[in-house]
Amino acid sequence: MKIKNYFYPKNLKEASLIFQENEESYYIAGGTYLNGLKNLKIQNLIDLSGLNLNYIQLEKNFLKIGSGAALQELVDSPIICQFLGGIISISALGCAALQLRNMATIGGALVTRGSWIDLACALLVLDAKLKIFPEDKIISLEDYLLDKKALKTGEIVIEIIIPCTSAGANFIKFKRTALDLAIINLATLIKLDNSICKEVKIALGGFTIPLRIKEAENILKSQVLSENLINSAAEKVGGSLKFISDFKVSADYRKDLAVILTKESLLLSWEKAKCN
Ligand SMILES: Cc1cc2nc3c(=O)[nH]c(=O)nc-3n(C[C@H](O)[C@H](O)[C@H](O)COP(=O)(O)OP(=O)(O)OC[C@H]3O[C@@H](n4cnc5c(N)ncnc54)[C@H](O)[C@@H]3O)c2cc1C
Repeated sequence: MKIKNYFYPKNLKEASLIFQENEESYYIAGGTYLNGLKNLKIQNLIDLSGLNLNYIQLEKNFLKIGSGAALQELVDSPIICQFLGGIISISALGCAALQLRNMATIGGALVTRGSWIDLACALLVLDAKLKIFPEDKIISLEDYLLDKKALKTGEIVIEIIIPCTSAGANFIKFKRTALDLAIINLATLIKLDNSICKEVKIALGGFTIPLRIKEAENILKSQVLSENLINSAAEKVGGSLKFISDFKVSADYRKDLAVILTKESLLLSWEKAKCN
């Protein structure tokens, strides 16, 4: 990697202009992912850290997180810790070491679209949306993850918008060691109306781009929940994806994990939902 220029724009417009005017330009937020990409023909780096995008704001109906907020800021923020039982803080805390969490940003994490991105699962069940410069376009995280072209070249993720809701939400990361990437990460959310399951979301990642498992959600939606029904939904998660083997675990082991952890997470979400 031979960097010719390192730019510090003062605002989004300037950042975008520098991007357009210089070939082989890349935005850099925390730089923890870009640093590892050895095959990029990067010539110009545009540092987004001076754009004041590390805010965390709780408004009446939405939680808004600037794309430049570091993962550790999500762990430490009292607002985030109290939001839906702290699911965002918990998923950020499981990412790598403190030194890395101090640098890596929520925007950088989501833009990588990596299967291992823990925050993506948590944010999927929270119905998170991304606000994108220059047109202030808003797209759902789910659509963004499913469509590689959703973020056009040169566009900048400004903000992550999460609707406020009251529900039981839970995140689980299964890994070999404290600093390891996930073998499986998953998040679940349940909203009850009396004892009926009004809303349910299940998101899984770690070996696949993080995604919602809607076939499993449909088993629980509008039903009176029971452990048997939750078992069926968890089994459906095991049956609806192609699990892969790698140097860590076999596909069968990963599938069994997904079933067991989905059940555990749904039961916890259900318990939390009853308290709302
Ligand atoms: C050793 C190690 C272990 C890790 N473990 C985990 C883990 O267990 N779980 C986990 O979830 N993550 C983990 N990560 C972090 C993750 O893989 C990414 O490195 C990190 O989230 C990227 O954030 P960043 O701010 O450093 O992004 P950068 O490296 O700065 O950028 C990443 C990409 O996003 C683009 N970009 C950045 N910000 C924006 C923006 N606002 N708009 C448009 N494009 C943008 C950049 O151009 C680049 O293409 C780990 C990283 C390392 C190095």
